[in-house]
Amino acid sequence: MTPEPTVEQPSALHRSARYRAHPSPAQRQVLRRQMAACRWVFNAVLEIHFRAQQRGVDPPETRTLERRLVTELRGRRRGRHLRPASSAALRFAVREADAAARRWRYTGGDRPHWRRAGTPGSMHYYPSAVHPTAGVVIRGEGRRARVQIPRLGLVRAHLHRDLPGRPVRLTIREDDGGRWWIAVVCDVEVQHEEATGRIAAVDLGAGRTLAWVVWIDTATGEHGRYSIPAAEIDHRHEQQRLNEIAARRARCVPASRRHTQLSQRLARRRASLANRRREAARLMAKRILDDVDLVVVETLALKGLIDAGGPDGARLLSAGMAAALAELRAVAERRGKKVVAAHRYLASTHLCAVCDRRADPMPLSMRTWTCGRCGTRLHRDYGAATTLLRHSGRAGMPPVDVRTRLALAGA
Ligand SMILES: [Zn+2]
Repeated sequence: MTPEPTVEQPSALHRSARYRAHPSPAQRQVLRRQMAACRWVFNAVLEIHFRAQQRGVDPPETRTLERRLVTELRGRRRGRHLRPASSAALRFAVREADAAARRWRYTGGDRPHWRRAGTPGSMHYYPSAVHPTAGVVIRGEGRRARVQIPRLGLVRAHLHRDLPGRPVRLTIREDDGGRWWIAVVCDVEVQHEEATGRIAAVDLGAGRTLAWVVWIDTATGEHGRYSIPAAEIDHRHEQQRLNEIAARRARCVPASRRHTQLSQRLARRRASLANRRREAARLMAKRILDDVDLVVVETLALKGLIDAGGPDGARLLSAGMAAALAELRAVAERRGKKVVAAHRYLASTHLCAVCDRRADPMPLSMRTWTCGRCGTRLHRDYGAATTLLRHSGRAGMPPVDVRTRLALAGA
C-alpha cells in the first residue's frame, strides 16, 4: 500500500485590502438592484427565524434556506426581483443572516436588525465553487484596473497598492458618503522571520507621540528606547468640526438634499481621519516589529478616556489607540511575531520602574516624576513601558538589572 501523499499546508491567514471603485451610472443602478435582492434575502431569513422562535420550533437548516430562497424562488415568477444578483452573493446573504440569527437565539447575541431599503448596502462574492483556485478576476493595475463583478461585468477600480495575497472573497459596497469601495479578502502566508532575541514593551501615547518603546536583548542585555510620533491630528479641533457639521445636519429636513450632502461630508471627514490614523499606526508597527520577536502592550481599558484630557477629544483619541493596537497585532501576525497584553490590573504608569513603589495619582501634564522611595527621577511613559517589560512574565526573559531600568526609565 502506498502512503497517502502529504500535502504541505501553508499557514495562511486572511487580510483584506480596500480599493476605491468607480462603477458607471448604469452599473450603479444594477449594483443597487443586486444589493436590494441581497437585502431582501437577508430579511427573509431573519423573518423565518423570528417566526420559528415565536412558535418555539427550530428554524430550517442553512442549506434548506439556501435552496428555498435562492435556487427555487429565483426560478419562479415571484422571485423575479432576485435575478439581477448572482446566486453566490444571495447565498452569502442567507448565510450571514442565518449566522446572526443563530447567534442571537442560541448563544445570547444581539437580536439582528432588518436591513432597510434606501440605506447603502454591500454585497459579497466568493470565487466560484467549481473553480476555487480561479479567485477574483482583476484586469489591469493601478488607476486603470478593472474588477469582475458577477452578472455585471468589469467595474473600474483604483488599485493604489498590490493585493496582499491570493484573493478569496470580494465585497462591493457604497458608503454613507456616496462613494463605492471594493474590499478583497486575501489568503496571506505567514512569513516566519529569523528571531532577533529582542523583546519590546510599548506605552501608547496620548497627543503628539503615538508610542514610547523600550527594548532589551534577552541574550546580551543590550537595550534601548525610542519614541514614534503620532499622525498630526488635532483631536479636539476635529471633534469640534464633526460636531458642527452634525449640528447643522440636525437643523435640516431629514432626507432633504442638504441633509444628504452634510451626511456625506461627515462620512468623508471620518473616513479621512481613520485613514491618517491607520497609516501612522502601520508605520509604527513596522518600525517596532523590524527589531523584535515579541511586543508587550498595556491593556487599553480606560486609558484612552483618562489621558484624553476631556470628553471632547476622548472618543477620537481612544479610536487612535485602538487603531494602533489593531495594526500592531495584524502586522505581528503576518510576520510570525507575538503581541501580548499585560495583566489588566498592572498600573504601569503608576509604578516606579526601578523599585516598584506605587506613586500617587498625577495629572497628565506631569511628564516626569520622582519616586518617593528610591528617589529616581522617571520619565512618565518610558517608565510605564519599562514596568510593562519587567512584568511581562515571559519565559526566557532575564531579570532586568537596576542599571538597565535606570537607563530605560530615567527622565
Ligand atoms: Zn522607586
